[in-house]
Amino acid sequence: MKRITIAIDGFSSCGKSTMAKDLAKKLGYVYVDSGAMYRAVTLYAMEHGCFDGLQLNVEKLRNMMQDIHISFQFNPETGKPDTYLNNTHVENQIRNMEVSERVSIVAALDFVRTEMVAQQQAFGKEKGVVMDGRDIGTTVFPDAELKIFLTASPEIRAQRRYEELKAKGQEASFDDILANVKERDYIDQHREVSPLVQAEDAILLDNSNLTIEQQNEWLMKEYLKRVED
Ligand code: C5P
Repeated sequence: MKRITIAIDGFSSCGKSTMAKDLAKKLGYVYVDSGAMYRAVTLYAMEHGCFDGLQLNVEKLRNMMQDIHISFQFNPETGKPDTYLNNTHVENQIRNMEVSERVSIVAALDFVRTEMVAQQQAFGKEKGVVMDGRDIGTTVFPDAELKIFLTASPEIRAQRRYEELKAKGQEASFDDILANVKERDYIDQHREVSPLVQAEDAILLDNSNLTIEQQNEWLMKEYLKRVED
């Protein structure tokens, strides 16, 4: 069967990675969480004094970009690739609230995006890839054979993220998470470089009232339509 490129974009905490990971596993495709890459750059910036509160020293980060190396290693326990920053496992740290509060600021920078997009395109050059993010169907893989744009209400998304953090034993407040989800939506949609926007040829799915199984079933049908004709 022909191997294709699958782009899953959408708002924060919509379940893009769950959907992408499950499909990649079923198809034997590579799964890439592009948000993890922006999160890793943000963590690096925080650890190297580029932030004063929420204020970012852009020039300092620009000069450090060549020192930031992000890689992934498959974790059989979670069935997902874990993120490594300069060979250190950072999968849990990059999901904390401090990183979430700053990541959209970092992801809006043109020099950060140029670098990340080049790496993401390299991951997908052989096809057989499922990648999730904000600009995968518009900028990273504009020729992807299957493009999904996922959305759900901010409250449902905040609740999902809250439960995810709690399950990992991390401190979380629902109100803070909801505010963060809305803030990131706003910055992601209004930035100048590659704003979050549905690609013209993407299929919209609101999964507010879908179970994971229903959503996976829907996605598999869409995939089969692309490879069977
Ligand atoms: O997907 P996740 O919520 O982990 O992504 C974290 C942040 O990274 C997003 O809020 C967005 O600002 C940024 N991002 C992006 N482009 C992508 C993926 C993520 O700007 N392709």
